[in-house]
Order: sequence, then C-alpha cells, then structure tokens
Amino acid sequence: MMNGKQYIESLKELHPEVYYLGERISCVTEHPAFIPHINAAALTYDLARTPNYEDIMTTKSHLTGETINFFTHIHHSRDDLLKKVKALRTIGQFTGSCFQRCVGHDGLNSVYSTTYDMDRKTGSDYHQRFIAFLKKVQAQDMMISGAMTDAKGDRSLAPGKQNEAGVYVRVIEKTSEGIVVNGAKAQITGAVNSHGHLIMPTASMQEDDADYALSFYVPVDTPGVIHIFGRQTNDTRKCDCVIDQGNKEYGIVGGEALVIFDNVFIPWENVFMCGEYQFAYDMVERFATAHRQNYGGCKVGLADVLIGASYALSEIQGVLRAGHVRDKLIEMVHLAETLYCCSLACSCEGIALPAGSYMADPLLANVTKLNVTRNVYEIARLAQDIAGGILATAPSEFDLKSGEVGEYVKRYMGGVADSTTENRLRLIRLLESMTCGTALVESMHGAGSPQAQRIMIQRQADFENKKRLAYRLCGLTTNRTQE
Ligand code: SF4
Ligand code: FE
Repeated sequence: MMNGKQYIESLKELHPEVYYLGERISCVTEHPAFIPHINAAALTYDLARTPNYEDIMTTKSHLTGETINFFTHIHHSRDDLLKKVKALRTIGQFTGSCFQRCVGHDGLNSVYSTTYDMDRKTGSDYHQRFIAFLKKVQAQDMMISGAMTDAKGDRSLAPGKQNEAGVYVRVIEKTSEGIVVNGAKAQITGAVNSHGHLIMPTASMQEDDADYALSFYVPVDTPGVIHIFGRQTNDTRKCDCVIDQGNKEYGIVGGEALVIFDNVFIPWENVFMCGEYQFAYDMVERFATAHRQNYGGCKVGLADVLIGASYALSEIQGVLRAGHVRDKLIEMVHLAETLYCCSLACSCEGIALPAGSYMADPLLANVTKLNVTRNVYEIARLAQDIAGGILATAPSEFDLKSGEVGEYVKRYMGGVADSTTENRLRLIRLLESMTCGTALVESMHGAGSPQAQRIMIQRQADFENKKRLAYRLCGLTTNRTQE
C-alpha cells in the first residue's frame, strides 16, 4: 500500500493531457488548481498507513489475502458496507471536501458483480479479465476514477439517435487486438489525479444502443484521452490567497473534468463489456446504489465540519448563548445524523449478489441520496443564517494584511475580546467555501440528480403491494365497479 507522498510521486510519472482555463497543464501535482484535490485523495492513502485508522481504511483482499487499501476492496458482507460508510464520514471530517476515491471503488464493485453475471449468462470471460485487472489495482494501490455519466447532447434522444453520434462514449472499431472508442464522459470526479478511468455505461440500453454498452479501463495518459478541468467558485483564490480559500489544504469539491475519447485504443484485456446491452442497467444500478449509499457518510463528515465552524463562529460573534442559535445548531445535527442513519440503514439491509459480493439496499440507498439533496442544503441554509451577511461581504485577507487599512479591518471586523479578527475571517471563509457555491451543487447532482433517485425509488417501491395492504384492511379486492 502506498502512503500519500508515494501516491503523489506516482502521479508525477504520468503525463495525462489536461487543460484548465484554456491552457495545457504540464504537471497537475505542481499546479495550485489541482493541489487541494490531490491532497484530499492522498489522505485516503495516508490514513490507511496511520495506526488509529488502519482498522477502517484497510482490509484483506479476497483474491490474494494481502492487506489492501479499503478503496480497492470488493465488499463481501454487510459489515464491509457499514465500514465504508464509517470510513467516508471519518475522512470527510478531515478534509471538509470530496476525497474522490470512492467513485472508482464503487465502479470496481459494480463491474465485478456484473461481469460475473455476464459470464454466467453469455459464456463470456469478462469476469476473469476483470479479476486480473483488480489484482493489479489492489497490488499497486491504484486510484481509479469511475466514469459513468456521458455527455448527453439532446437529452430527449437515445444514445444512438443523437445528431452528433459520438457524444456518448461508443465503440467505433473492433479488431483482434481490442476496440477503438469515441465520445466523452462528463464531469468525472478526481479524473486528472487518478491513475486511470473505469468506464461504465450511463443508463439502461436497448439493442440499438449496443455500441454504447461499454465498460473498460483506460490509463489516464493514454493517447487520445483529453481532460478539461472544470471551473469552481472562487477558484482563482487558489492561486493568490490563503485565508480567503477557506479550506486551502483540501479545496471545496472533488475536482471534476470532462474526459474526452478521441479515437482511443483499448486492448481486450481492459474491456469488461462491449455490446451486452442487457447488462447495462445492472451495472448502472449497482454503481449508483453504491455511490448513493456513500452520501450519508462523506457528506455527514463535511456537515460535522460545517456545524463545528458555525458553533465556533457563534462563539467568536458572541451569540452562542442565544436560544435560536442553539436551536439551529441542534437542527443541523439532527439533519446530519438523519443522513448518517440512512447510509447505515441501507448498508445493514445490504444484499448478496451471485458473485458473492454485497451491495447496499437499492431503495434505501436512493432515499439516502435524495435526502442529501435536501438536508445538506438545509444545513447550509442554517449555517448561513447563523453566520450572518458577513458570509458574502467580508473584506479580503489583502485588506486584513494591508498597511493602510489592516488596522481598521481588525478593529471593526472583530468579535469577542478574547479572539481575533483573523480567527473570525478564517471561519467565515471556511463557511463561505462550504455553503456558497460549487460545494452545494455536488450534494444535489453528485451520484446522480434527484430525478435519477426518484426513478429508482419508483422502480423499487412496489406500489401494487402497498395497494394490496390497503385493500386487505378496508375489505376490497378491486376498486373497479363490479357488475
Ligand atoms: Fe466520495 Fe463523497 Fe466525493 Fe462521492 S462525493 S467521491 S462519495 S467523497
Ligand atoms: Fe460524488
């Protein structure tokens, strides 16, 4: 297993094609736009090597028996599922930001179990190929991005009906050596600081969409793989500020990139689905379930930080004893712990798959994520309420440090006598970074938009059975008029 420093060193050996603000980036590990995200991912390596956290951050490989980082593990019990949620909350408490590695982890679990089913039903050998790949991931402690969402063009049209045929990732050529792919995966978390990408189909597919029913692994610096890193709220502060970044060490979100495939060759050994459209839905559902399960873990870790910052700022601003402030802090805890309960519950109700691996209960995992799209916003709303309008109007650290106006800022922007203006501004900036921009959108659309969760909830809800329950109690066998 690598530590964080070794992980960062390993990235330096790669040469992915990355663009940010219109410029080609020669080395992501040395550019301020990427460093916080790399630090957050590096923590998943460091904690696995830290005695107090080894328990939740490592496990034994079911393939080799070796000790591995938990982020490369295939879940084999409900305890594994619970352990993941607890690990994510713990890491989130350290980073206050997305640490990215879970997406690939969930992808590994989804592809593992789905390739097993494919082999059993079609006689393919995808699962054995995948196991060979997984052994490498575990032995080399690789960070893999999970790339599912395609660039979708006109959302009303199926992949194969798009005017621009190459919007979705698709196979354009098959040879005895491998396949050639085109298209793009949209806004992939941690993409530029991963060792490679695990590609999965984006939705259920029909026969017409067979060219788009694709899963494969591609190293990040493969020719033709192009990354365009997204803008984030206040991202230029990464280049010239310390205090005003709020969370200089780990940033505000995962760091997402548009990943483009321009005639990229993938050898067969790295292909795990190619045309088996009947299995696309299972792969999507298993990945989505795993990632939605996570959100009551990582986001609750972030909420712990947010609540702590609100509490500390209330102390500095002299309002901690106010009844309404206490009430709001309690409400924030209630909302956060409700999300944690959801993630624990869907893990406790996890189900065994034919491959022997486990996935969380899909209905409860989707409920978890849908609640995150509400509770996290409400937690942020309460944090902003407590903090006051200063959250959006505070002077910059340049003014705080200015020889001309710094003393004014210190005198007029301070709080209680036994704290400092700088302390107050640091907490304000942390709260700003966590509640005023990109970070919140991640809670809405990360792991799929609310409507995606509603669709899965509808599929799982079994309304007909609920109807029968009602019928039984009120003596109905049908609600149609009987002649
Ligand atoms: Fe992991 Fe959470 Fe980031 Fe998803 S949003 S990659 S679960 S930390
Ligand atoms: Fe996410």
